[in-house]
Amino acid sequence: MYLTWFGHSCVLLSGTKKILIDPFIEGGRLSHTKPDFVVVTHGHADHMGEAVTLKRKTVAITEIAKFLKAKGVPAESLNIGGTIELQGVTFTMTPAMHSGRIEEAGRGYGGGTAAGFVIGMDGVSVYHAGDTGLFSDMKLIGELYHPNVALLPIGGRFTMGPNEAMIAANYVGAKLVIPIHYNTWDKIVQDPLKFKNAVERTTDIEVKILKPGEKIEINA
Ligand code: ZN
Repeated sequence: MYLTWFGHSCVLLSGTKKILIDPFIEGGRLSHTKPDFVVVTHGHADHMGEAVTLKRKTVAITEIAKFLKAKGVPAESLNIGGTIELQGVTFTMTPAMHSGRIEEAGRGYGGGTAAGFVIGMDGVSVYHAGDTGLFSDMKLIGELYHPNVALLPIGGRFTMGPNEAMIAANYVGAKLVIPIHYNTWDKIVQDPLKFKNAVERTTDIEVKILKPGEKIEINA
């Protein structure tokens, strides 16, 4: 399986299928990625992004799925703790400590609660934490789903910062951690190298800092 980070929280998993998670990039267009599935972790604009215009089969929490269906997007709903399988890919919705209102043109809709996802494809398990603070049940995500990779926010202010994400990396226990949700804007500026060094000095976990658009191979 290949993993491409487009910046912010937007990640494309390419294997048997193509899965685009949180389809938002600053000033960007993601239609070229032609995903089989889109995954939305919560209703905030920097995560819903192009979900409506992409109009792909979209996996999201019940409230967001209803919102998307009303806009003509073929959405698949699930909720925290649940798993669905679509064309050989498994999508498990995990908790996240964050808010989840859908923002749209100055208005707002209840978007249910924010979530993370564990996605299983081609024998590889990927945990995308979404936007979240640190919570100790991340240990359960490790115990239950044994992710090979964990995508963890490190930007601070709206999510975990590097210190909390260090503990999160230990709780989840994935051998590879990729920091996300930082340096998109002034309010979430962080030095990912400090995070990488701190994690790698104290654990066996590898931290890979990706450049926007960079693609890496992920093995089980
Ligand atoms: Zn958010």
